[in-house]
Formats: sequence, C-alpha cells, structure tokens
Amino acid sequence: MPSFSRQLVAQINLAALRHNLDRVRQCVQGAQIMAVVKADAYGHGLLRVLPALGGAEGLAVMELPAAVALREQRYTRRLLLLEGFFSEEELKEISHHRIAIVVHQREQVAVLEKARLKRSLEIFLKINTGMNRLGVSPDETAELCERLNACSSVAALRLMTHLGQAETAAGAEAPLAIFKEACQGLPYPRSIANSAGVLRYGDVGGDVVRPGLMLYGVSPLPEQTAASLDLQPVMSLRSELIAVREVEAGQYVGYGEVFRTARPTRIGVVACGYADGYPVTARNGTPVRVAGKEAPLAGRVSMDMLTVDITDIPEARIGSPVLLWGDGLPVEEVAHWAGVIPYQLLCGVTSRVRFVTTEVGRVDFEL
Ligand SMILES: *Cc1c(COP(=O)(O)O)cnc(C)c1O
Repeated sequence: MPSFSRQLVAQINLAALRHNLDRVRQCVQGAQIMAVVKADAYGHGLLRVLPALGGAEGLAVMELPAAVALREQRYTRRLLLLEGFFSEEELKEISHHRIAIVVHQREQVAVLEKARLKRSLEIFLKINTGMNRLGVSPDETAELCERLNACSSVAALRLMTHLGQAETAAGAEAPLAIFKEACQGLPYPRSIANSAGVLRYGDVGGDVVRPGLMLYGVSPLPEQTAASLDLQPVMSLRSELIAVREVEAGQYVGYGEVFRTARPTRIGVVACGYADGYPVTARNGTPVRVAGKEAPLAGRVSMDMLTVDITDIPEARIGSPVLLWGDGLPVEEVAHWAGVIPYQLLCGVTSRVRFVTTEVGRVDFEL
C-alpha cells in the first residue's frame, strides 16, 4: 500500500565519510588532516557527521559558534577558524576555547598586538598567492611573521595559502611557486591543499591539508568522477513518486512551456522541489533515478514537486523510490545539468528535509 506521507529524506552515510577520510590519508601520507566542516559540514550536519571524523587531526570551520559547539561536544583536537576573527571582542572566546585562527590582513595583526589574552593563540598567516580574495601579500609575509612572533597573544605560527585553481592541472603551479618564495627561510609548518590540491599535489600540499568536498564523496576534478577517485557519496537525497499520470503527445507538463510531450508519456510526480533545495535551474533531461532506473526530468521544477518521464519504466508507480542525487547518481551530474556547482546543492538542502544517518548501505525503501 502506498504511503501518503511525504517521504523526502537526506540520507547521510557515515561509513562513506570514513572511507573518504581514509582516501585523504592515502593521498597525503605524512600530513595532518584538518577536515573542512564549514557551512554545517557542507550541508550534511556538523554534529551528525562528527562521529565519522575521528581520523582527522582537526576540523576547520568558518563560524565561531560552530567551533564553540564542537568544544561543547568535547571535541578536543585542533579547531581552525578559516576567516579568523572579525572583532577584538571575539578573541577572548576564541582563546578561551583554544581555537586556532587564520590571520589574513594587517588590520588583524594590529588587533592581536594590542590584545591581552589569558591564553595565547595558534595563528595561520594566510598569504595571497593569486586568488586575490583573502591573504597578505607575499612580500609582507616576513615582516608580519616577525611582528606576530613578537606578539604575546601568539603561541604558534603557521603559513597558509588557498589555491583558487587547483582543479585544473596547471592552475596551481604559479601560486605554489609564489608561496614557496614568500615562505623562504621561515621555519613554520605550512598548510596549502584543499580537496583538489590533495588529489593533485598530495606531495606538496603542506604539513596540514584542508580537504572539504572530497570528504563528502564529490570529485573536485572536472575530468574525473568520484568513483574513479574511489570516493563514495555521503549524502543521498531520496524521495518517492506521489502521483503517476498518462499524458497524450503534444501536451505541456508543469509551469510554463518548458516541457512538451513528444509521444504519449507517463509522467511521475516526485515529492521534492526547489523549497527542498533541488535546483530550479535543472534542465529537461536532468537525470533522476526512479526504481533504480534513469528517468529524465520533464518540465520546470516546482516549489514542492518535480516531474519526470517514466514512460520507459513501466514498473514505476506511486511509492516507487526516487534518488535525486547521491549513491547511484553523482551530485556533480545534477549540478552540471543545473548550471551550478555541487557544493551549492549539498549546502542548499533546506530544513524541511528530514535527515537520517546510516552507517552503511542505504535506507530500505520498499519497491
Ligand atoms: C572551503 C575551504 C577549503 C576546502 O575546500 P574544498 O574545495 O571543499 O576541499 C580549504 N581551505 C579553505 C581556506 C577553504 O575556505
């Protein structure tokens, strides 16, 4: 009997996350791993995924409240704030909770020099090597290191950069050379690589790597699938068909004149829409899986529903399981069809979606 409650869930597979963390370890060998869990662990739920991150030496977040929440969960390893601090007032709390910070501009150095903290801080001085977002310029690195070193608020110094183009084969060569030169003669540990950097430059990624995306089982490299990199998707967005209808040839489906049937067509209606985080920009033909088979998106995504062509899946009926992305349908593919990046889809699943955590395999959906 079909169930009539809305069956949309984001299934979070912690075994896959552990596996992906092991993959990072294989790539970087000696380096420490600081797992990037900003934006609520890329939309997976920070405290939900925490049990699977025991293999990392530390965690990196953007948000101070997230770091504090981790300390309250008795997380005792290194925590790093990726954008550092925004005001002097935050420094006390940062210091109290033993949180490391990124320092990326002179103004922050000046504040640190004035600050009187009970416990001094671990600092990652971020150098701009060509991304031109955050970071001090390479030629002021030595001077700022000297000042930070002399500062009573600073316990330990690290050097860091972020690669804006590590996903392309040649994109990181110039930044890596700039970083190397800026750091010459400075005796501090280094942190360079994100996921793309870990996969491409495992040997030069630095003493502390900062992978995010690959932990969640998504390929950061355009020419390689997650499967070919032996990464397993952590989030699977699953739903069900809530209605099925036969539509004659030449009819429109959904809002506007986006999809018109070319033949007598069986349309399946899926309980998932843009208010759940499915991209409204997904085009006709975007792959969706119904009862284990590919069913192309047919028509514009609605707020609460989307429609798929199930003509070639005669066994599909009300209650048939639907996979929007995840284990069996890479989120990269859906993102590509929607003209967005996979990061955005993972981070964009809304609070209306029920999250379930599993250790292995998949949630059992009855056919
Ligand atoms: C987000 C972020 C990362 C992780 O990047 P991925 O591409 O997700 O691996 C690493 N370092 C910094 C500074 C970041 O902001």
